Amino acid sequence: MIPYGRQSVSAEDIAAVIEVLRGDWLTQGPSVERFESAIADYVGADFAVAYSSGTAALHGALWAAGIAENDVVATSALTFMASANCIRYVGGTPLLVDINPTTLSIDLQKVPKGLKGLVAVHYAGLPLDLKQLSGEARPSVIIEDAAHALGALTPYGPVGNCAHSDLCCFSFHPVKPITTAEGGLVTTNNSDLAARLRRFRTHGIVPTPDIAPWAYSISEVGFNYRLTDLQAALGLSQVRQLEDFIVERNQIASLYSHLLGELEIVLPPVANDGFRHGYHLYVVRTRRRNELYAALHSAGIRAQVHYVPVHHHPVSKDCLIPEGGLPCTDHAYSEVLSLPIFPGLEREQIQRVTEVVQSVVSVSKSGL
Ligand SMILES: *Cc1c(COP(=O)(O)O)cnc(C)c1O
Repeated sequence: MIPYGRQSVSAEDIAAVIEVLRGDWLTQGPSVERFESAIADYVGADFAVAYSSGTAALHGALWAAGIAENDVVATSALTFMASANCIRYVGGTPLLVDINPTTLSIDLQKVPKGLKGLVAVHYAGLPLDLKQLSGEARPSVIIEDAAHALGALTPYGPVGNCAHSDLCCFSFHPVKPITTAEGGLVTTNNSDLAARLRRFRTHGIVPTPDIAPWAYSISEVGFNYRLTDLQAALGLSQVRQLEDFIVERNQIASLYSHLLGELEIVLPPVANDGFRHGYHLYVVRTRRRNELYAALHSAGIRAQVHYVPVHHHPVSKDCLIPEGGLPCTDHAYSEVLSLPIFPGLEREQIQRVTEVVQSVVSVSKSGL
């Protein structure tokens, strides 16, 4: 069985977790701080706040940014439900925006002016160019959902440096660029936002040592969204391999694109000059998607569809949708398929995947 994505855990990763088990701190402690610094350094952000999941990180980011009841926040319609749910968690209303048919990310030209917020998803790990939203086109708050895009680069620096956003959220689920089993993190360059993110993660607790050494005060409803030191030790060890992971993902993507180049199939877009794709997903498009899915699965290859669009789910009845619907999203949904891509995927496995694709999808005009 070949999954579409999976973790890569080394002997060093395992040793790092075991070492924490022998120590004093199991939940949030010194390893979480070290992990936060390592990510902040890697992406070039001033602050990093770890969370128990990517979804919790998004919840914290929306709350810290002050998104509240009745605020309209845009996001992509072709994404994981967490990108829209985080808007609901704080009482906001998701406005679903259609995708760019090439990048499959939100079409930034279609983001209306004067919005309170935007949750910008870097679909598959190809970074959006958020600089396009400068000036009066810029929503008051821009939060990046970079669950796919740790390790991706833009001409303005790594995704996560918040060059053109307020906050950037990552996920460390096992299929994501690096893993802590479950885990997430928010980066920002704003110290107030960082302080709010830290309060929200721990019940809104604010120590008040001027009153008494044990005293603390709570004036906001927070959560327990802490990452554990066990997870952070794994994450810290994984960060050291991140660069190699992304290089390997890019190599696998070029090999696929080379092997599938002659077929009548739409390959993923390559990154523009100055950008580096993270290749969390390698998404091909074909009208024969359902057949291809079935053929791959009978061969033990677990290709996946990313995603059932947000507005197709009954829970999204409350979402705002532009007049005319979301035609690019609906069309892409009928054609997309994510082929296996992850560090450690072997050449022979890539060969097997491409053979099944070749058996279903015909050779293009040029090859006939
Ligand atoms: C994985 C993912 C999330 C949620 O992350 P979890 O760590 O699983 O909670 C959010 N948005 C997108 C686009 C994702 O792919």
